[in-house]
Amino acid sequence: MSKAVVIVGAGLGGLSAAMHLRMKGFEVTVYEKNALVGGRANRIEDRGFRFDTGPSLVNYPWVFEELFSATGAQMRDYVELLPLDPSVVFYWRDGAHLTLSADFDRMARDLSKFEHAAHVQLARWLATTQERFRFTFAHLVTSNAETVFQWIRPVPKRGLVRLGITRSLDSELGRYFRSPYVRAALGSYAMYLGGSPYELPGTFSILPFGELYYGLWYPRGGIYALVEAIYRRAQELGVRVITNTPVRSIQVRDGRVTGIELSNETFVPCEIVVSNVDVPTTHRMLEGASIPRYRWTMTPGVITFYWGLKHKPGELHHHAIFLPADMRRAFDQLRTNIPEDLPFYTCLATATDPSLAPTGHHTMFVLVPTPTLSNARMISDWSAVVDSVRTRVFERLAHHGFSIAQSDIVVEHVWTPIEWKERFGLYDGSAFGLSHALRHIGPLRAPNRDPNIQGLYYVGASTTPGTGMPMVVLSGRMTAERISNDVRG
Ligand SMILES: Cc1cc2nc3c(=O)[nH]c(=O)nc-3n(C[C@H](O)[C@H](O)[C@H](O)COP(=O)(O)OP(=O)(O)OC[C@H]3O[C@@H](n4cnc5c(N)ncnc54)[C@H](O)[C@@H]3O)c2cc1C
Repeated sequence: MSKAVVIVGAGLGGLSAAMHLRMKGFEVTVYEKNALVGGRANRIEDRGFRFDTGPSLVNYPWVFEELFSATGAQMRDYVELLPLDPSVVFYWRDGAHLTLSADFDRMARDLSKFEHAAHVQLARWLATTQERFRFTFAHLVTSNAETVFQWIRPVPKRGLVRLGITRSLDSELGRYFRSPYVRAALGSYAMYLGGSPYELPGTFSILPFGELYYGLWYPRGGIYALVEAIYRRAQELGVRVITNTPVRSIQVRDGRVTGIELSNETFVPCEIVVSNVDVPTTHRMLEGASIPRYRWTMTPGVITFYWGLKHKPGELHHHAIFLPADMRRAFDQLRTNIPEDLPFYTCLATATDPSLAPTGHHTMFVLVPTPTLSNARMISDWSAVVDSVRTRVFERLAHHGFSIAQSDIVVEHVWTPIEWKERFGLYDGSAFGLSHALRHIGPLRAPNRDPNIQGLYYVGASTTPGTGMPMVVLSGRMTAERISNDVRG
């Protein structure tokens, strides 16, 4: 095998894989269909407003630091991560609200509005989940195990029960917290993983734990400043990134990759291709190979609003989550439609970094979950849905004292699952990739090496370990390790 690798897509997973492969001596060329790198973590600039398109919460900062240090650099020389505390405020229509903080006393004080023995309960939950978090990260998340047996081999006897795999996220949280508000808030993270807290394994309590224990971070200059930092380091290492160049197909002959075909019909020969595009989308790009039909369960879609505002909407925090009164019903409805009592998330990045908008103005990002395109059978007209959702978001914000009038919006961009799909090749308009239901985790997830086609690898949210910026950065390392081991034989 030659030591040249072609990567399809310059999302964070693709860039991470490229950097790790460069460090292992590979020649790496990345073909990106869009003008800007970063994939879902992209940027819209309009009339002095700068919006991050997708991710807005940075957690596990050490994963990004490790990416830089693996290449002999220090992240702080490229981008500054600011701690954001308190991190997120949850709101309910009845006036209840819960503020998350990585400061134990502050967190316990706020929690005591909902729980009798908040300090004790919080301490117990943090202690148990910390053990689970450490173990999961050290042994399970970054393992390139091929079989379930290999994967769980490091788990000690009775360890599976301690990992929470045998109960749901909601019932796991219920072992520590009685309040339905607290369970709803901490369980709401399930949405990003493609399930409900009543179905996903309790192991995923490590998600709210990670946010609570290690805090949330904000790159000065926005999330895209982190993307630019990673891109700059990749270029310094000699990674070639060719933007505005969609890849039309991945060519396969006799079960081996032979190259890629660009949309301008140029054929680029190569023996190793890493696809950063969603795995099911990649399967549709294959020419010369038939792939077995898989049953994919995807995470939901999203409608995202990007508003340039004349005013700050009241005392809205940088990150806020507006939850429905009945979470179970909302999650049920989300399978096929937009829930009546709309859950949504807002990010007012200018509350932390005013440089993202013209003086005195603000940027606001609103994320509303939707079903994936094939599941959204009740939705025929997305523009009507956008109008209705916008009205409901205004109404709910006003209910909490964060009024926005249409005339306050100087700039508006809206992406529905259709735009998300078309821009980044997201399968079925799913925002976060393959779900993390039990049958899609560890070695049961789409593997990062194709089992049927020699020379074809995957990186990013739909392969191992999973979705989210830190995970796809880790995915890049894992895929690079896999390739390097295969080439060494
Ligand atoms: C709305 C939203 C909010 C999110 N919020 C958070 C958050 O707060 N925190 C967090 O950690 N994560 C968040 N995520 C998840 C995170 O953004 C993703 O998990 C991560 O960015 C995915 O990276 P990736 O490398 O797997 O893929 P992508 O970012 O999808 O990159 C794939 C790349 O491939 C390119 N491509 C596609 N088809 C082709 C082709 N044919 N030829 C060439 N190039 C192609 C695409 O243009 C893209 O650049 C969010 C995601 C969304 C959508």
